[in-house]
Amino acid sequence: MRTLIPLLLLFAVGCNSDPGVVFGEDRIALVDMHLHTGEWEDIPSGTRAFLSERFPFPLGMDAESTAAAVLSGEGVLAELDKAGATQGVLFAVYAPLSVGITTNETVIEHIDADSSRLWGLASLRVDRWVEERDQQLAALSAALEHPNMIGVKLAHAHQHFRMDAGEYYGIYEVAAQHNAPVYLHTGPSPFPGTSQDAPYTDPAFLDDAIQRHPDTQFILGHLGFDFINGEEGDLETCLTLAKTYENVFLEPSAFGSASGDPDQIFLPHALRRIREEGLVDRVIYGSDGPQSPGFVNTYAERTIHALSEAGYSNAEAEAVLSGNFARVFGVEPVTL
Ligand SMILES: [Zn+2]
Repeated sequence: MRTLIPLLLLFAVGCNSDPGVVFGEDRIALVDMHLHTGEWEDIPSGTRAFLSERFPFPLGMDAESTAAAVLSGEGVLAELDKAGATQGVLFAVYAPLSVGITTNETVIEHIDADSSRLWGLASLRVDRWVEERDQQLAALSAALEHPNMIGVKLAHAHQHFRMDAGEYYGIYEVAAQHNAPVYLHTGPSPFPGTSQDAPYTDPAFLDDAIQRHPDTQFILGHLGFDFINGEEGDLETCLTLAKTYENVFLEPSAFGSASGDPDQIFLPHALRRIREEGLVDRVIYGSDGPQSPGFVNTYAERTIHALSEAGYSNAEAEAVLSGNFARVFGVEPVTL
């Protein structure tokens, strides 16, 4: 009890809006690299229905106003505050047939809510590639000129292009020119309209692109988790790629959520495997929020639990929760 009481007090402090999260006896900076923003009406109706089912009752009854509130720049900042996160990264998305469109311009607009705390990842359309390739690459390059647009977001499964299709590799060249890491969705996705076949979801199909672009940083989103069957999926492939190539990083978002990992098995297991393989310096924390009010905070708490379960030291936890992000994206590390 003697040690428990101060820890509980510290935890209680960690739950208010003070920056940082409590890990063991330390307060650690937290940056959430995976957040969504945008307009509810731009999300295709099938995906809107999917999302609103996930809002806790009674919020699902009024999904539109709930979504509008959490998807704005101010809404995201409020969710970051609840989690103790100092900063976050908003994703542009161009997936008109699945999860919808959040333009680079929309992301930049939402970043303006507080440009000292929000960054963005830019993206581009690939669905009319033969006609629009040069135009789309130029637009991506222009978006990356914005000082807060620090990386590129791609989701082959949601955008319907193969991971090993060389005609799209110009995207990785533009990213390297801007020192902009590329975040890639990996693993089967639950969203309606997704391409689920292996060349769109299995990170093994990224091997060729990674090997050919040593100056581009590749961040493997969701660690290849199989969201359709609720299984580990391609975790080991992600670890093999990270061991083989120094320009591969790992992002454990979404699959450790209360709905995806109710017994808190998958996230501790993935973090334990990463540590066993000596890859702690490759992990970059993200939640895939805001989703619904409180999700960003809950995901951070579940991750802290998982890091502790997996035997991470305070220094290792700090690397995962904020240090690796600063190094890979070339931004100032957060000091509390
Ligand atoms: Zn996401």
